[in-house]
Amino acid sequence: MLYDAIIVGGSFAGLSAALQLARARRNVLVIDAGMPRNRFASESHGVLGHDGKPGSELLATARAQLLAYPTAKIFSGRVSRVDTGEAGFVVEAEDGARWFTGRRLLLATGVSDVLPDIPGLRERWGQTVVHCPYCHGYEIGGGAVGVLGTGPMSVHQALMFADWGEVTLFTQGVVDVSAEERVQLAARKVRVEPSLIAELQGEMPALEGVLLQDGRRVAIKALLLGTQVRMASPLAEALGCAFDDSPFGPIVRIDAWGATSVDGVYAAGDMARVPHSITFATASGVAAGVRLHSSLITEDAQRGETAAA
Ligand SMILES: Cc1cc2nc3c(=O)[nH]c(=O)nc-3n(C[C@H](O)[C@H](O)[C@H](O)COP(=O)(O)OP(=O)(O)OC[C@H]3O[C@@H](n4cnc5c(N)ncnc54)[C@H](O)[C@@H]3O)c2cc1C
Repeated sequence: MLYDAIIVGGSFAGLSAALQLARARRNVLVIDAGMPRNRFASESHGVLGHDGKPGSELLATARAQLLAYPTAKIFSGRVSRVDTGEAGFVVEAEDGARWFTGRRLLLATGVSDVLPDIPGLRERWGQTVVHCPYCHGYEIGGGAVGVLGTGPMSVHQALMFADWGEVTLFTQGVVDVSAEERVQLAARKVRVEPSLIAELQGEMPALEGVLLQDGRRVAIKALLLGTQVRMASPLAEALGCAFDDSPFGPIVRIDAWGATSVDGVYAAGDMARVPHSITFATASGVAAGVRLHSSLITEDAQRGETAAA
């Protein structure tokens, strides 16, 4: 069958887009590999009306609500390739085992976090090593915390994190702190530690401190890590979508409503905007779904067809 829209990525952005299209009685297929970015965290925070619920619970509810619409379908699997054809987009899933065709394509495949190779860090990701103070800072409950230097944003993150605890900024050999920034950090009572972190310590997943390469130990109960990210899927690049730089890594270039530089291809969520959160991803999915719908209406009107037929 020819779907009105195929959405690759069925997490917060993709399901939000799909919901708009299903409610417009459009045939929409969501293809999802089931690896949302926040799968390492046991709770989601800052989501209005759902504060503290597991991300998996939010997504399970969203999937069930979407599937109540007769024109919506979800296929669990990974899209390996997309070709453009006469009808629109030919989407290959599960390495050629399944093929689907859609008039429009919406990418909501998210990003992957690039985690520094420090012993004990990866295992604590999403628990005591956190990516965002708004998501997990409150639950840390104050006390001694750290910011792991990763680049130019790290000073800003240390200044900000001081609202959640007593911060040490570990420059980790990659952050140059200017004289002006030192004054700002001191005003926020942030300590600057130039010695590299050798390992994270404590009974997993708790964090009790970090061992520095010079042998000293600094007690902290949580580490903030503003990661660099990369596309979770190569599809946008393969389709020829234009990219922009962001402080966290490349993102797909979209207009205010989620249209990419490639005709008929839309993008939403973390892969196409910063900053990153469930709410931002959800909102951008709504925008892209509405914009995609509008393009279908225009095409149908030109062809003299009606959506409800
Ligand atoms: C550890 C951690 C904790 C977080 N906690 C919070 C929080 O508490 N509150 C908050 O607001 N935000 C939180 N975030 C941020 C939040 O997770 C993201 O902003 C949000 O998940 C982005 O949604 P998305 O739909 O754009 O992408 P994602 O949720 O990453 O989903 C992308 C989906 O696309 C699928 N996919 C990728 N490639 C393919 C393919 N080729 N074929 C099919 N499917 C594919 C993936 O499997 C995945 O299911 C957290 C992030 C991290 C890293």
